[in-house]
Amino acid sequence: MTRTFEHGGGVRSIAVPIPDNPLGHTLVYAVDTDRGPVLIDTGWDDPASWDALGAGLAALDTSVAEVHGVVITHHHPDHHGLSGRVREASGAWVAMHAADAAIVRRARQTRHEHWYAYMAAKLTAAGAPDDHVAPLRTPRRRTLPGLSPALPDREIVPGELLDLPGRRLRALWTPGHTPGHVCLHLEEAHPAHLPGHGRLFSGDHLLPGITPHIGLYEDPDDTTATDPLGDYLDSLERVGRLGPAEVLPAHQHAFTDAPSRVRELLIHHEARLTGLLSLLAEPLTPWQLAERMEWNRPWDRIPYGSRNIAVSEAEAHLRRLVKLGRAEAVAGGEPVAYVAV
Ligand SMILES: [Zn+2]
Ligand SMILES: [Zn+2]
Repeated sequence: MTRTFEHGGGVRSIAVPIPDNPLGHTLVYAVDTDRGPVLIDTGWDDPASWDALGAGLAALDTSVAEVHGVVITHHHPDHHGLSGRVREASGAWVAMHAADAAIVRRARQTRHEHWYAYMAAKLTAAGAPDDHVAPLRTPRRRTLPGLSPALPDREIVPGELLDLPGRRLRALWTPGHTPGHVCLHLEEAHPAHLPGHGRLFSGDHLLPGITPHIGLYEDPDDTTATDPLGDYLDSLERVGRLGPAEVLPAHQHAFTDAPSRVRELLIHHEARLTGLLSLLAEPLTPWQLAERMEWNRPWDRIPYGSRNIAVSEAEAHLRRLVKLGRAEAVAGGEPVAYVAV
């Protein structure tokens, strides 16, 4: 049974399931335009998810074939997975920010072996033990999700209105969760006249009850020392200042009072950074830091793939602390350890 939600003012959403994932579903928004619905994100590429999207659109008295365009908040497979199928069935355009489009292009070109070698080198440099890195060095046949995502055919330009006939939808670049994450600001009065400025489709950037994963921007071909957590915190503040009347996120549920949710998150991240500094009283590699950080379960019960994500998150926090001058790399060590200053 597909669930759909009415948000008023020609905006509806469909809960498209994500298989075997505690998040449960992606909220795919359908914004009515003079030329047919425009979707904000499309959902995970899975037969059941595709069926749910089709059933949801039917429940909203439209269909995949009538979709006019697809606006993607970021390249992750729970958002961009079905874009190719939607385009095939409808002829719709697919729009994405250039930085995430670059990731899609690379993912389509990168050979699996190249990716595994990159991950092995990265984890070794972060201080991962041999038994963790070893499986990445043994070649195996496995398909990784999101390795053949659809190439977008339009670019989302920050600050500009998207081409939505009869609607005002402006792109807001909110890097952090991914380098090309965007929020979409519907610059129209809230249908229930709530105070604030329009409505914001927030993707994974701003969610009512969870914090998005902030890791390093994984890119085998880029050696720039980016600061995703710094980007994320800046983007959060900008969204807070925008003060939308309502936030329409890609997971969980719609909510109001964005500024206080932003404040909560800023306080959460500041407390987390301060907590990490006390762990860094002794020099730690990113792996050792990840082992000691607080997660939703003890380290020895965190599965393999999630440990890689956790280490990436530890590295993003270290990057931030180093940029702020609150931690530094210990000279000469291999793998590199970090210590509070
Ligand atoms: Zn995401
Ligand atoms: Zn997501």
